Amino acid sequence: MALDDIYKEVILDHYKNPRNKRELPEAELSCSKNNPLCGDEITVFVHEDDGKIAAVAFQGAGCSISQSSASMMTEAISGKPVDDAKRLAEEFRGMMAGEVEPDEDEFGDLVALKGVVKYPIRIKCAVLAWDVLQEALGGAGHAAGAATH
Ligand code: ZN
Repeated sequence: MALDDIYKEVILDHYKNPRNKRELPEAELSCSKNNPLCGDEITVFVHEDDGKIAAVAFQGAGCSISQSSASMMTEAISGKPVDDAKRLAEEFRGMMAGEVEPDEDEFGDLVALKGVVKYPIRIKCAVLAWDVLQEALGGAGHAAGAATH
């Protein structure tokens, strides 16, 4: 099976069996956005505890790329420090811009979305969940704490 086909299978699996797709009553952070070009909608819920993503969930509707990206995102950041989740969001954007070669250990199934780079109109679909996450977490590294580099 070609690599593209394996990636397609991974994306479809997350689309058909989304992980962490539910409400999260204990979430104190949440944000919703849509991608009018495609009709995708995503809401992300985060329960933060002691600087970590103690729980993360999403709800939404739309194409397989947007929904599978959200599902993969929740798996990738669950239990991680908030700073790591923000960094992964930046790296994911870098991958979708064709600038970052993903670390497979860190990215997990997210690597499957790398093929979307070839379809510029779908990149917004793949990045939507991450836009929502970054806004929920308080900005894309522009926060006051971003001076620690
Ligand atoms: Zn879409």
